[in-house]
Amino acid sequence: MLKADNLNVFYDQIQAIKDVSFEIQEGELVALLGANGAGKTTIIRTISGLQKLRSGKITYNGQDISTTEAHKLVRLGISQSPEGRQIFGRLTVLENLQIGAFIKDKKADIGAEIKYIYDLFPALKEREKLAAGALSGGEQQMLAIGRALMSSPKLLLLDEPSLGLAPLLVEKIFEVIQTLKRNNITILLVEQNVYKALEIADRAYVLESGAIKLHGTAGDLLNNSEVKKAYLGG
Ligand code: ATP
Repeated sequence: MLKADNLNVFYDQIQAIKDVSFEIQEGELVALLGANGAGKTTIIRTISGLQKLRSGKITYNGQDISTTEAHKLVRLGISQSPEGRQIFGRLTVLENLQIGAFIKDKKADIGAEIKYIYDLFPALKEREKLAAGALSGGEQQMLAIGRALMSSPKLLLLDEPSLGLAPLLVEKIFEVIQTLKRNNITILLVEQNVYKALEIADRAYVLESGAIKLHGTAGDLLNNSEVKKAYLGG
């Protein structure tokens, strides 16, 4: 579904991504792992058209999307829930969700999507008229994921969805990610919670200093001695 070939990304003179190649098959849940600053967010932003490639190629269902603008990618079915949530704090929960549906004209479609999101996250329904800035961190994360789902994506890019959340909420977010996979959404998951990510992923790539260091099935990586030592505490 998504294929990245030899991606190189720079911030001015500094190379953040070095010859990175990976692919995601339709229906897969692929995790992108690595320490702080390894380049995970840069890869997500590059796929979603927010960061320019210096060289390399990204194809989506066979179409070259290397230079496609972000809003057009949403129409093609690629949506992201960004790191740090980036919700609109002064708008209500409902208004934040409606913004995520900017590519849809039919009210009925938007209504159906909102119902789907409220079924996934009942807490959002209870708070739909509240300013999003008044929500807890966990609720804001749910809202960020909900907003990304409003465009009915086929490929969902999730950047650190469990960051800073209490354990119970981490569980809830991971359950929802598994539900989305069962509902045929293909997912690229960036996570610092390596163990939990590998528990639910099909495959994973490990980034180190902007380059792919390891990749394999989640099961193989869970048993890999380098991964155990660097990320799983033993
Ligand atoms: P984190 O988990 O901390 O977000 P990450 O793996 O997502 O880390 P990136 O945010 O993609 O890493 O950063 C990759 C590298 O690029 C880092 O060295 C970072 O300092 C650098 N970088 C990121 N954004 C910028 C920017 N806007 N300008 C300059 N350098 C940047």
